[in-house]
Amino acid sequence: TYAGIDLLPQHFSLDGFLYDPNPSPDLIWIYRGLTLALLLMGMIGGIAFYIYRINGRLGYALQQSRQAEIELRKLSIAIDQSPVSVVITDLDTVIQYVNPRFTQVTGYTAAEAIGRKPHILNSGLTPKTVFKEMWIALNQGAFWTGEFINRRKNGDVYYEEACISPVTNADGRATHYVAVKLDITQRKQVEEALRISEERHRLLADNATDVIWTMNLEGRFTYISPSVAKLRGYSAAEVMQQSIDQALTPESAETALKGLGDLIKAVQTGQPLPDFRGELEQPCKDGSTVWTEATVTAMYNAAGEFKGLLGITRDITERRQMQEALREQAIRDPLTGLFNRGYLDETLPRELHRCRRNGEPLAVAMLDLDHFKRFNDNHGHRAGDSVLRAVSDLLNRSLRGGDIACRYGGEELTVVMPNSSLTAAGVRLEKLRQAVTELQVPCEEGELPAITVSIGVASAKLAETEAAALLNRADAALYQAKARGRNCIVNSEEADP
Ligand code: GH3
Ligand code: MG
Ligand code: MG
Repeated sequence: TYAGIDLLPQHFSLDGFLYDPNPSPDLIWIYRGLTLALLLMGMIGGIAFYIYRINGRLGYALQQSRQAEIELRKLSIAIDQSPVSVVITDLDTVIQYVNPRFTQVTGYTAAEAIGRKPHILNSGLTPKTVFKEMWIALNQGAFWTGEFINRRKNGDVYYEEACISPVTNADGRATHYVAVKLDITQRKQVEEALRISEERHRLLADNATDVIWTMNLEGRFTYISPSVAKLRGYSAAEVMQQSIDQALTPESAETALKGLGDLIKAVQTGQPLPDFRGELEQPCKDGSTVWTEATVTAMYNAAGEFKGLLGITRDITERRQMQEALREQAIRDPLTGLFNRGYLDETLPRELHRCRRNGEPLAVAMLDLDHFKRFNDNHGHRAGDSVLRAVSDLLNRSLRGGDIACRYGGEELTVVMPNSSLTAAGVRLEKLRQAVTELQVPCEEGELPAITVSIGVASAKLAETEAAALLNRADAALYQAKARGRNCIVNSEEADP
C-alpha cells in the first residue's frame, strides 16, 4: 500500500475514499440504464421497420412507374408506327399532335400541321351533313365515326374512315379531341369499280331484248331481266316465283327438266357442265304461247366453284315463222298451194308404214285433167292455170283430216287417203269427179267451159311398203280411166291387167 511504502501518512486512511468495501446494494441506476437501453433499441427497431416499409413501398412504386413507362413507350411506338393516322387537337381544333402516318397520308409534316386546323385537308367534297353530325356527337361527349373525302398536300383527293372522340380529364371535362383515321381510297376505288361494273351488267341485262336469267340447281330463278315482260307479259317479279313447270309448256318443261337433270348429274360427279341449247315454248300471261330459244351455261366464281346457271332466252317467233314459211315453200306447189311431189315422196312411205302398223287401209288416187292441152290451146295458159287452181281448191275442200293432196306434176294430182278402204275412197272420189264437172271458173269473157277429170285409185296391199308400186297401180288405173273414155274413176282392182 501507499502507506506501506511511506508515500502516505500512517494514519491516512484510504477506506471509503476509493471504494466501499461493504457497499450497500443500490440497483436503481442499473434498472434505469437498462430501461433506457431497451427503449432505445425499440425505437431503433421501429425506425428500421418503418424504413423497411417505406423502402418496400418505394420499390413497388418504382416498379409500377417503370411498368407504366414501358406501357407508355409501347403506346408511343404503336402510335408512331401505326398504319392509321392519329391527330390530337385542342378544343379549338388546333392540331397539337400528328403521328408519322398522318404525314405519309396527307403529305404535311408534323411541323406543318401542328398549330393549324384539320381544315387544311378540306377538299370541299365531304357532304356538309357529315360535319354537322360529327359536331352533334362530339358536343354531346360521344365519339363519332364516318367518312371524309379529303385532299392531300399534293392536291390528290383521298377517302378516309375516321373515328373522333373527345378526351376528358378527371372531372369529366373535354380537353382535347383525338382522331384515328384510315386511308380507304384503295378500297373505295375497288368498290367504285365493282359498282360501275355491276351497274353496267345490270344495265345490259335490264335493257337487253333477250331475257337474261340465272337459276339455281333447284330450278328456281335467282335473277330475271325485266325484258321478260315484253316476251311473256309477266313481270320479272312474277316470273321469279314461277317454277319450270309454270315457265314452260308441259312438253318444253319435260325437255328443260331433262337438261337440268343432266346438269345436276355433272355437278354431282364434278364433270364439266354441258351447255344446253333448246327451243322451248313458253306460256304468256294472255294465254297464248311464245317460242323461245334458251342457251344455258354454268356460272363459276374465281375459285372455280359452281355458282348456278346463266341463261339467255330469245324470242324466236319470227325465226320460226320464217322457218315455217321456208318449209312451206319447200313442200308446197306455188300455183295450187297443194303439197309438191317432194313432199309426197317424203310422206307416202311414212303413211304406208303407219297404216300397216295400225292395221289400217290406205288408198291413193291419181287424178288427171282431161284434154287439158286442148283446153290450154283454146283458152290460153292463164285460163288453164285458173282451172288448175279451182280444181285444187275443190280438192282441198273435200279432204278429210289425214288426207294429203299433192300436185304430182303438170295437171296431175295425187291424193293419199289414210285409213280409207278402196270402196270408201271410190265413193268420195266419185263425189269429187262430179263436183269437178260442175266447177264454174270465171274468166274475162265470163265463165270458162266445164272440164272433167279422170281418176285412178289403188289400195295399199297387206304388208306393202313400196310407195312407188302403189303409185304405179294408181297410175295404171288412171290410164284405164282415160282409155275408158275419161271423166270416170277406175280402181286398180277392177282395172284390166
Ligand atoms: P289427156 O290427159 O286427157 O290424155 O289429155 P291432155 O291434153 O291433158 O294430155 P296430157 O296430160 O299429156 O297434157 C298435159 C297438158 O297439161 C300439157 C300442158 O299444156 C298442160 N299443163 C301442164 N301443166 C300446166 C300448167 O301448170 N298450167 C297450164 N295452164 N297447163 C298445164
Ligand atoms: Mg291430162
Ligand atoms: Mg297429164
